[in-house]
Amino acid sequence: MSDQPLPPGALDALKRPSNAGDRSRIRKLSDFENGALAVFASHDKDPAELTHKFDLLCPRNGCGSVILKAGVGRWVERDSVELDITKQPLHPDLPALPAPPATAQWWLVAPTIMEFENIGFTKPVQQDAAVAPKLKFLICAECDLGPLGWCEEGVDEFWLACSRVGYR
Ligand SMILES: [Zn+2]
Repeated sequence: MSDQPLPPGALDALKRPSNAGDRSRIRKLSDFENGALAVFASHDKDPAELTHKFDLLCPRNGCGSVILKAGVGRWVERDSVELDITKQPLHPDLPALPAPPATAQWWLVAPTIMEFENIGFTKPVQQDAAVAPKLKFLICAECDLGPLGWCEEGVDEFWLACSRVGYR
């Protein structure tokens, strides 16, 4: 046995997870020059509606869990929702959403939760007003990063923030 040194870079290659190449290339909406325009495709079931031509992923580098397959969500611009109610600093992969009543861009997932590949939920969150509906926040099923979106308890419509998912 000789003490032959490893070729340069071999140790790094061994230490690197095999899927790192793929998962480090998660694009955010802000990485596209045209924003949402760059990810739009017309929806198979209703050509008048817009969907995403990429799979939607957890935006965390090193995770990238597939949340929704391409062509499933429908693009909707509607009232923003206060997702960050914990007052903790935002994770760098989660851009702030406009404060309501400004609008935000969403991928609407319906008619059932079965449309998702992977998704997690928080416990119901009661917003300030007593009359407000109870919301649950959508989080990554693999690493719990979130909120990535929201749904109303008991309603089978799920809203993913376009700016808070990765695209590949
Ligand atoms: Zn994740």
